[in-house]
Amino acid sequence: MRSIKKTKTSSKGKKAPLIIPRAEHTISRSAINRHALKVLYRLHEAGFNAYLVGGCVRDLLLGQTPKDFDIATNARPEEIRRLFKNCRLIGKRFRLAHILFGQDIIEVATFRTHHENATETHGKSHQGMIVRDNVYGTIEDDVVRRDFRVNALYYNIADYSIVDYVGGMQDIKDKVLHMIGDPEKRFHEDPVRLLRALRFVAKLNMRITPETEEPLLRLSHLLDHVSPARLFQEVLKIFQGGTTLATIHLLQKYHLISKLFICVNKESALVNIALSNTDQRIREGKTASPAFLFAVILWQSVSEHVMRHEAEGMPTYLAIEKALQHILKLQTERLTIPRLMQLSIREICLLQHRFTYRKGGHPYRLLEHPRFRAGFDLLILRAAAGEHVQELAEWWQEFHSQTPEQREKMIKEMNQKSSSHNHRRRNPRKRRTKPVQTE
Ligand code: ATP
Ligand code: MG
Repeated sequence: MRSIKKTKTSSKGKKAPLIIPRAEHTISRSAINRHALKVLYRLHEAGFNAYLVGGCVRDLLLGQTPKDFDIATNARPEEIRRLFKNCRLIGKRFRLAHILFGQDIIEVATFRTHHENATETHGKSHQGMIVRDNVYGTIEDDVVRRDFRVNALYYNIADYSIVDYVGGMQDIKDKVLHMIGDPEKRFHEDPVRLLRALRFVAKLNMRITPETEEPLLRLSHLLDHVSPARLFQEVLKIFQGGTTLATIHLLQKYHLISKLFICVNKESALVNIALSNTDQRIREGKTASPAFLFAVILWQSVSEHVMRHEAEGMPTYLAIEKALQHILKLQTERLTIPRLMQLSIREICLLQHRFTYRKGGHPYRLLEHPRFRAGFDLLILRAAAGEHVQELAEWWQEFHSQTPEQREKMIKEMNQKSSSHNHRRRNPRKRRTKPVQTE
């Protein structure tokens, strides 16, 4: 029999949590980031309550590796700062403490609440969205402002137990995602929760309860009120989660995809191959460049526009430039992609055309190009996805891996080929335009 203890009902009559003692759960201290442990112990020794909370508790219980270890406490930001000399307070709306250990940052948040009956000036907009979230509270308040029950488990450093106010432990076992409170109201408060729900379904391999799913199916329009900057941050999280392909498929299924991307074709072999490759890389602990992923996702739209411009007689390079300008403009209306990242996306796409120049010093210059690797990867994936660039991709694969002498030989062959080609077409009646995806 499980010996789950209950604490006494609080004086305010709030529901008592389940306390799952150390012997009854699988979170071992050896799996917890040592800096996070240090912070927890220091807070505890100073007489404060301190808990690991959110995604890290959930991921540890599911046997996954947490991305970050967040701490919740009843200590106020100033009190936290007094305890840690390596502490920086951040945030205007809600002050958070960052405890710095070299590259490793442990985020410590004071328990907070939100006003139930807030009016626009007190923290909610007309759509019911929370725009201000800055009032300190108790652990009970902190629990109910979290999104899903599996994200509201607290690991108590005082006795290594897990404190569960909302049934999150059962959801972890049942592998279900259940919104805390009234799902419709919670989606209205913060529509990003629509995206988070699908990201967690994919990442945690969970299903959504019918009462959470029902509003999810009809509230996509709420995302129109979320800033493109916040949506961009959410897309980055999707890209870095290791289950991007599954998340993209869910976003398509629930008709949310168009809120993030101007166009993602469900059947696109390129997107499917590229995203499953990147997911694999992330699961192996490697990184994936967001610019590359944007280039992959936008490539089909870009090349469709290029073909249209070429059909009107525009030279390929100009056609790509024009297509990119148009596509990036549309895309950045949805997501605030930083300028540098936009430049990288452009370069990765432009390289697809530059790869077709294989004479003289050109290929050597491309090898030195800062985006060569990403551009080259896209070329290989296009070939794998069935675009007519197989010969070009194989050539670059060989050129890339060859010795300097062999490279010289390959260039010579290219020069000869093209001079005999030019000879044959010395007096062409009309210059044929090249579609971007063929050589
Ligand atoms: P991951 O880090 O894997 O993306 P996470 O659950 O840790 O998942 P974070 O964005 O790091 O997500 O947030 C940490 C915790 O803060 C969540 O587990 C949740 O309890 C709470 N939280 C984050 N975003 C929201 C939100 N939009 N609404 C309510 N609670 C949220
Ligand atoms: Mg997290």
